[in-house]
Amino acid sequence: MTERKGVVIVGEFSDANLAPISSELLAIGRKLADESGQELSAVFIGNEISDQVTNEAIFFGAERVYVIDAPLFKDYLNDSYVGALEQLDKEIMPETLLLGHTSLGRDVAPRLAFRLDTGVTLDCIDLSIDAETKLVEKTKPVYGGNAIAKYICEEGRPQMATVRAKAVSPLGRDASRSGEIVAFDPGLDEVAMRGKVVGRVKEEVAGVKLEDADVVICGGRGLVGPEPFEKLHELAGILNGAVGATRHPCDAGWCPYHYQIGLTGKLISPSLYIGIALSGSSQHQAGMSGSKIIVAINNDPEANIFGIAHYGVVADYQKVLPSFIEKCGELSSKKGPDIGIEIQKEGRSQNE
Ligand SMILES: Cc1cc2nc3c(=O)[nH]c(=O)nc-3n(C[C@H](O)[C@H](O)[C@H](O)COP(=O)(O)OP(=O)(O)OC[C@H]3O[C@@H](n4cnc5c(N)ncnc54)[C@H](O)[C@@H]3O)c2cc1C
Repeated sequence: MTERKGVVIVGEFSDANLAPISSELLAIGRKLADESGQELSAVFIGNEISDQVTNEAIFFGAERVYVIDAPLFKDYLNDSYVGALEQLDKEIMPETLLLGHTSLGRDVAPRLAFRLDTGVTLDCIDLSIDAETKLVEKTKPVYGGNAIAKYICEEGRPQMATVRAKAVSPLGRDASRSGEIVAFDPGLDEVAMRGKVVGRVKEEVAGVKLEDADVVICGGRGLVGPEPFEKLHELAGILNGAVGATRHPCDAGWCPYHYQIGLTGKLISPSLYIGIALSGSSQHQAGMSGSKIIVAINNDPEANIFGIAHYGVVADYQKVLPSFIEKCGELSSKKGPDIGIEIQKEGRSQNE
């Protein structure tokens, strides 16, 4: 039997640009490859993939880039993407296969793991090579972020994981790096695909995307209606951030569903998260506990969110928010919109 070797990351891109998750995966993949003396490859699936994407993957750490490029892959379909990766796995037999914990990774990874008869650890925040077993040790938050667990996959190959966005910093871009670009034809039969894309509707997102934002202003049920979201947008505009929500405001139609942060919503890890009139349920924390600085405004001092907040204001948000917005506006006109992420403090503060 051929020995499995190498670390492979499944890259993502948008138009001709490498998605941030790709350079993050390359950084963690590079670490694993170096620690285990293996090569790091990236794979991109799509149609008419730009050279810029593949070159950038090399500049950010890949030694080899596999390109699976055909009209069949123009639109994402889990059938075709899983099939392509299954064939690539048979061809190159990697020891480790990493995906982003993105919409694509969340959809593809469990299906692919099933096809390859291996395990997958989802939503990892760190990966390293275990000194004793030489296997990949996968670290991930569990119980809604209240504990950290470490996993090793003893049986089944490749060792698979999805990695949370912003859990790792990309390596510095080095345009002097060179690598190999290899076209791979998985030989899939389009007719055998069970799904078909019949149309695409692009959701218009004004400003910074929630999952990429460095500052997130999140509203909860305590806002009691859609109007206060305008205030949240005003604050987000000043701080160059994005607005999110807990589940209730989305269910109630106060804001669109793509605002939802949490277990069944988006996963975010901004430098600054400001939670307004939300309790901090475990399901919500599952999506935001990776935020670097957490600020909470809630009129209930017993609210869960204060258990994880670095800064807390116990008050009616209606009394606090206008002056907070005014102050941020003043500071931003003097110092620019980066004022939010200049806030740095070790440890947690009192909820006062
Ligand atoms: C399977 C499942 C999946 C779920 N997925 C998600 C998910 O992805 N994301 C998510 O968010 N939820 C999710 N939920 C729902 C979750 O359990 C909670 O119900 C939800 O997060 C609570 O939202 P909230 O904090 O806005 O509301 P509440 O828990 O009702 O909290 C509102 C808070 O606002 C405060 N408040 C009220 N008025 C004011 C005021 N004037 N000023 C200041 N504070 C005020 C209150 O003190 C209270 O703490 C899920 C639930 C299930 C069962």
